[in-house]
Amino acid sequence: MQRRTCQCGRDIWVQYKKGRFAVFWLMSIEFGKTVHRCPDCGRRLDIDELD
Ligand SMILES: [Zn+2]
Repeated sequence: MQRRTCQCGRDIWVQYKKGRFAVFWLMSIEFGKTVHRCPDCGRRLDIDELD
């Protein structure tokens, strides 16, 4: 997993599946879950647009 940052500053973790598909995770101490949009700014997550 690689940590990336949304344009709003929210940490997003990226996991690559089979080297091609990027799955986005929100991680906290208690849990992790997959997301398609940033929970803070609502931006659709795109691997090419994350820092
Ligand atoms: Zn965001």
